[in-house]
Amino acid sequence: MRFKPKPFTDPVPFRCLYCLDCCRGRHIYLTLEDIERIARAGHDPQDFVTFSVEGDKIRFVLAVREWDLGCVFHDPETGKCTIHEVNPIICRIYPFMVSRKPLGVEGEEPFEYRGEKLWLYYDESCPGINAEEPETTITPEEIAELGLEFEREFEKTDMDGFVELIGRLDGEGNG
Ligand code: SF4
Ligand code: SF4
Repeated sequence: MRFKPKPFTDPVPFRCLYCLDCCRGRHIYLTLEDIERIARAGHDPQDFVTFSVEGDKIRFVLAVREWDLGCVFHDPETGKCTIHEVNPIICRIYPFMVSRKPLGVEGEEPFEYRGEKLWLYYDESCPGINAEEPETTITPEEIAELGLEFEREFEKTDMDGFVELIGRLDGEGNG
Protein backbone atom coordinates (compact mmCIF):
# COMPACT_ATOMS: atom_id res chain seq x y z
CA MET A 1 0.00 0.00 0.00
CA ARG A 2 1.17 3.52 -0.72
CA PHE A 3 2.09 5.88 2.12
CA LYS A 4 -0.20 8.94 2.04
CA PRO A 5 1.65 11.46 4.22
CA LYS A 6 -0.19 13.79 6.57
CA PRO A 7 1.80 16.10 8.85
CA PHE A 8 2.25 14.63 12.33
CA THR A 9 2.63 17.53 14.72
CA ASP A 10 0.55 16.57 17.76
CA PRO A 11 0.05 13.29 19.67
CA VAL A 12 -2.50 10.97 18.00
CA PRO A 13 -4.59 8.12 19.43
CA PHE A 14 -3.75 4.79 17.81
CA ARG A 15 -4.90 1.18 17.80
CA CYS A 16 -3.69 -1.26 15.16
CA LEU A 17 -6.72 -2.88 13.51
CA TYR A 18 -4.66 -5.62 11.82
CA CYS A 19 -6.28 -4.68 8.55
CA LEU A 20 -3.66 -6.91 6.79
CA ASP A 21 -2.51 -3.99 4.71
CA CYS A 22 0.77 -2.58 5.87
CA CYS A 23 2.96 -5.70 5.90
CA ARG A 24 2.50 -6.41 2.20
CA GLY A 25 4.27 -4.92 -0.77
CA ARG A 26 6.61 -2.86 1.39
CA HIS A 27 10.33 -2.41 1.00
CA ILE A 28 11.63 -2.62 4.56
CA TYR A 29 15.27 -1.82 5.18
CA LEU A 30 17.02 -3.79 7.89
CA THR A 31 19.84 -2.55 10.07
CA LEU A 32 22.49 -4.87 11.46
CA GLU A 33 20.82 -4.49 14.86
CA ASP A 34 17.50 -5.62 13.39
CA ILE A 35 19.13 -8.65 11.77
CA GLU A 36 20.92 -9.61 14.97
CA ARG A 37 17.83 -9.20 17.15
CA ILE A 38 15.64 -11.29 14.83
CA ALA A 39 18.35 -13.96 14.41
CA ARG A 40 18.76 -14.24 18.18
CA ALA A 41 15.02 -14.85 18.42
CA GLY A 42 15.61 -18.06 16.45
CA HIS A 43 15.28 -17.03 12.78
CA ASP A 44 17.92 -17.84 10.20
CA PRO A 45 19.04 -14.66 8.34
CA GLN A 46 18.97 -16.74 5.12
CA ASP A 47 15.19 -16.90 5.51
CA PHE A 48 14.47 -13.21 6.05
CA VAL A 49 17.31 -11.07 4.61
CA THR A 50 17.50 -10.12 0.93
CA PHE A 51 19.97 -7.79 -0.75
CA SER A 52 19.33 -4.74 -2.86
CA VAL A 53 22.00 -2.81 -4.76
CA GLU A 54 21.46 0.95 -4.61
CA GLY A 55 24.18 2.94 -6.36
CA ASP A 56 27.44 1.77 -4.81
CA LYS A 57 25.72 0.47 -1.66
CA ILE A 58 24.24 -2.86 -0.73
CA ARG A 59 21.11 -2.58 1.37
CA PHE A 60 19.54 -5.32 3.44
CA VAL A 61 15.82 -5.72 2.91
CA LEU A 62 13.22 -7.85 4.67
CA ALA A 63 12.18 -10.85 2.53
CA VAL A 64 8.64 -11.18 1.20
CA ARG A 65 6.57 -14.19 0.18
CA GLU A 66 6.21 -14.72 -3.54
CA TRP A 67 2.49 -15.39 -3.60
CA ASP A 68 1.23 -12.12 -2.06
CA LEU A 69 4.37 -10.02 -1.48
CA GLY A 70 3.59 -10.23 2.24
CA CYS A 71 6.46 -10.07 4.67
CA VAL A 72 7.74 -13.52 5.63
CA PHE A 73 6.83 -12.76 9.26
CA HIS A 74 3.27 -11.68 8.52
CA ASP A 75 0.50 -14.10 9.50
CA PRO A 76 -2.00 -13.89 6.63
CA GLU A 77 -4.81 -15.32 8.80
CA THR A 78 -4.66 -12.78 11.62
CA GLY A 79 -2.77 -9.91 9.99
CA LYS A 80 -0.42 -9.95 12.96
CA CYS A 81 3.35 -9.85 13.05
CA THR A 82 4.84 -13.14 14.25
CA ILE A 83 7.99 -11.38 15.51
CA HIS A 84 6.33 -8.38 17.12
CA GLU A 85 8.72 -8.30 20.11
CA VAL A 86 11.81 -8.10 17.89
CA ASN A 87 10.52 -6.56 14.65
CA PRO A 88 12.61 -4.13 12.57
CA ILE A 89 12.81 -0.52 13.65
CA ILE A 90 11.14 0.61 10.42
CA CYS A 91 8.12 -1.49 11.38
CA ARG A 92 8.06 0.15 14.80
CA ILE A 93 8.03 3.57 13.18
CA TYR A 94 5.17 2.75 10.79
CA PRO A 95 2.44 4.17 10.30
CA PHE A 96 4.62 7.20 10.89
CA MET A 97 7.65 8.44 9.03
CA VAL A 98 10.56 10.74 9.75
CA SER A 99 12.12 12.89 7.05
CA ARG A 100 15.07 15.28 6.95
CA LYS A 101 13.30 17.33 4.30
CA PRO A 102 9.75 18.60 3.91
CA LEU A 103 7.67 16.50 1.51
CA GLY A 104 5.58 19.43 0.32
CA VAL A 105 2.40 18.40 2.14
CA GLU A 106 -0.06 21.05 3.27
CA GLY A 107 0.27 21.92 6.97
CA GLU A 108 3.75 20.43 7.44
CA GLU A 109 6.20 22.15 9.75
CA PRO A 110 9.63 21.25 11.10
CA PHE A 111 9.88 19.43 14.41
CA GLU A 112 12.98 20.29 16.42
CA TYR A 113 14.24 17.32 18.40
CA ARG A 114 17.61 16.88 20.10
CA GLY A 115 19.03 19.72 18.05
CA GLU A 116 17.84 18.16 14.76
CA LYS A 117 15.27 19.53 12.37
CA LEU A 118 12.88 16.80 11.26
CA TRP A 119 9.58 16.54 9.41
CA LEU A 120 7.17 13.95 10.75
CA TYR A 121 4.21 12.40 8.97
CA TYR A 122 1.65 9.70 9.46
CA ASP A 123 0.03 7.53 6.83
CA GLU A 124 -3.48 8.74 6.19
CA SER A 125 -4.42 5.34 4.79
CA CYS A 126 -3.78 3.55 8.10
CA PRO A 127 -7.18 3.12 9.79
CA GLY A 128 -5.48 2.67 13.17
CA ILE A 129 -4.73 6.39 13.48
CA ASN A 130 -7.52 8.12 15.42
CA ALA A 131 -9.23 4.72 15.71
CA GLU A 132 -12.14 4.26 18.09
CA GLU A 133 -11.13 2.82 21.45
CA PRO A 134 -7.44 3.62 20.99
CA GLU A 135 -4.91 1.50 22.82
CA THR A 136 -2.27 4.17 23.06
CA THR A 137 -1.28 7.68 22.12
CA ILE A 138 1.74 8.17 19.89
CA THR A 139 3.79 11.31 20.35
CA PRO A 140 6.03 13.12 17.85
CA GLU A 141 8.91 12.78 20.34
CA GLU A 142 8.82 8.97 20.37
CA ILE A 143 8.68 8.77 16.59
CA ALA A 144 11.52 11.31 16.23
CA GLU A 145 13.58 9.21 18.66
CA LEU A 146 12.98 6.04 16.64
CA GLY A 147 13.75 7.90 13.41
CA LEU A 148 17.11 9.09 14.73
CA GLU A 149 17.89 5.60 16.05
CA PHE A 150 17.14 4.14 12.61
CA GLU A 151 19.35 6.73 10.92
CA ARG A 152 22.27 5.96 13.25
CA GLU A 153 21.96 2.21 12.81
CA PHE A 154 21.38 2.40 9.06
CA GLU A 155 24.57 4.41 8.55
CA LYS A 156 26.55 1.64 10.27
CA THR A 157 24.94 -1.14 8.22
CA ASP A 158 27.21 -2.48 5.48
CA MET A 159 28.40 -5.76 3.97
CA ASP A 160 31.49 -5.97 6.18
CA GLY A 161 29.34 -5.65 9.27
CA PHE A 162 26.90 -8.23 7.91
CA VAL A 163 29.66 -10.76 7.21
CA GLU A 164 31.09 -10.17 10.69
CA LEU A 165 27.64 -10.60 12.26
CA ILE A 166 26.91 -13.85 10.40
CA GLY A 167 30.32 -15.20 11.46
CA ARG A 168 29.61 -14.26 15.07
CA LEU A 169 26.13 -15.82 15.03
CA ASP A 170 27.45 -18.99 13.38
CA GLY A 171 30.17 -19.21 16.02
CA GLU A 172 27.52 -19.02 18.72
CA GLY A 173 25.27 -21.51 16.93
CA ASN A 174 22.60 -18.89 16.12
CA GLY A 175 23.14 -18.56 12.38
S1 SF4 B 1 -2.34 -0.19 8.21
FE1 SF4 B 1 -2.43 0.57 10.35
S2 SF4 B 1 -4.18 -0.50 11.27
FE2 SF4 B 1 -3.65 -1.61 9.40
S3 SF4 B 1 -2.26 -3.24 10.10
FE3 SF4 B 1 -0.98 -1.46 9.49
S4 SF4 B 1 -0.62 -0.25 11.37
FE4 SF4 B 1 -2.34 -1.68 11.76
S1 SF4 C 1 8.32 -7.75 10.49
FE1 SF4 C 1 6.27 -7.80 11.30
S2 SF4 C 1 5.57 -5.65 11.32
FE2 SF4 C 1 7.36 -5.78 9.97
S3 SF4 C 1 6.51 -6.07 7.89
FE3 SF4 C 1 6.96 -8.11 8.77
S4 SF4 C 1 5.04 -8.79 9.69
FE4 SF4 C 1 4.90 -6.57 9.37
